[in-house]
Amino acid sequence: MKWKIVFCFFVILFAVTRPLHAQEEEPQRVYEVSAGDTLITIAERFGLPVEAIISANNLANPDLIYAGQQLVIPGLTAPPAEPETEAIMRLATYRLRPGDQLDVLARRFGVQPADILRANGLARPDQLLTETEIRVPVKVADSLPAPVLSLRVSPAVVQGQTGIVDITVSKDVKPEGAYGDQPLTFFFLGDGYPGYRYFALIPTPALLSPEVRTLRVSVDGAEIEQPMPTLAGSYETQHIVLPPAKGDLLEPTKVRDELGELREIWGISSPERFWSGRFRFPIGEGYVQTSPYGTRRSYNGGPVASFHEGSDWSAIEGTPILAPAPGVVVLAEDLIVRGGAVVIDHGQGVYSNFWHLSQIDVEPGQKVGRGEQVGLVGTTGLSTGAHLHWEVRVDGVAVNPLQWSEVSFPFAPTVDAS
Ligand SMILES: [Zn+2]
Repeated sequence: MKWKIVFCFFVILFAVTRPLHAQEEEPQRVYEVSAGDTLITIAERFGLPVEAIISANNLANPDLIYAGQQLVIPGLTAPPAEPETEAIMRLATYRLRPGDQLDVLARRFGVQPADILRANGLARPDQLLTETEIRVPVKVADSLPAPVLSLRVSPAVVQGQTGIVDITVSKDVKPEGAYGDQPLTFFFLGDGYPGYRYFALIPTPALLSPEVRTLRVSVDGAEIEQPMPTLAGSYETQHIVLPPAKGDLLEPTKVRDELGELREIWGISSPERFWSGRFRFPIGEGYVQTSPYGTRRSYNGGPVASFHEGSDWSAIEGTPILAPAPGVVVLAEDLIVRGGAVVIDHGQGVYSNFWHLSQIDVEPGQKVGRGEQVGLVGTTGLSTGAHLHWEVRVDGVAVNPLQWSEVSFPFAPTVDAS
């Protein structure tokens, strides 16, 4: 339930929709005759008397029409002007925290203080203080350029969480984009009415500074730029004292080499997606989380220079660890810092990592299914006791793994933020 505490204090969702009627066929003033047409069938199709078509086209001999002939259809007006596109919605529910100020909030979300009051039906700023949760309107682009039909980012971009850009376009052209400096990789999600749907994950580092960044998406010459804040997560600081023997393992070169090897693996984005929907929790029910993801860490009284990149759960040595989702094992060996290690490639840049195992049950290259045993809980490497360490990497970024067992990625979660 800790995940809920971390995550639910702020939920944001925004969606922009291009009106579907912009995609409907333009009314035709001129009809091109096909083989097999007669004036009678054409007149029936448009609900007109035959004579109306004859006179509108000055046809001398109504029996003589031919395939490819252009006939004016009376009564059909010129195509209407391009319908107005709508600036749609961006919904944010914000739980007020002690010290929050209206003008500071307004600046953060890029709106006027009066906009926030209006969205909450309040007349005066002091009334805001009696609320615990407020709605924040967030400005979005006024319209979406063709061929973009819809664009949605959900949930919010929050330190340590994974967000999704979900975009539908009318042409089968792959979008490109970036959030701040971080390039986004789009993958095809499916086709169907009204277009082609793509998604990109936004993995947000837990220490990325909370500030407004720009989401950029381009597709087939259309460019969208949308300011989107990176929101602060709520992470604590943990002070860890390592016994002397284990302290040796913190020798910087060893730590660096091992991380370098893993970074190479995480840098590979397999085009195929093996996972779909929520990840299963890798061990059974009833375990206690001893160190959540994102906790800032200080070792042996040193400065806070890192954060906990996975989620730790107390479990006795020998507890089976199960694959949270289908994938391919890409690493299964003993590492110096991380001990017994298994890395599963779930495809499209998403990896599960398990450290400190007492036993490894899989080999590199082996395909695993959801729930298949990959090893046993242990306390090998830099560990102070037997526990499960589960880490999820997306495009190399360590993100909160528990979110992956709550949200059906890659389908943008439908969060009710109204
Ligand atoms: Zn851990």
